[in-house]
Amino acid sequence: MSDRKFWIRINPQGCVEGSALGEYIGPLVEDAHKQFTPRVRDRRREAAEGYRHELVGHDEWKQRAEPCLLGSCQHRKQAAS
Ligand SMILES: [Zn+2]
Repeated sequence: MSDRKFWIRINPQGCVEGSALGEYIGPLVEDAHKQFTPRVRDRRREAAEGYRHELVGHDEWKQRAEPCLLGSCQHRKQAAS
């Protein structure tokens, strides 16, 4: 389990909005973006806005993605204040 990789989707504020199993998507960042955003027009807009996708290991996922996905990260606290 712990050697699994995950694609994470990071919004322009640096907050992780989604994740997907790396083995399900494969190694290409384009494929990860496609998974989260099926329409090419939307992908272009998101790339211009600063959305990013990164492949991370389980430890990094726990550290970076989990607080965001649970809504307990700094980004959300800042957005709410
Ligand atoms: Zn966050």
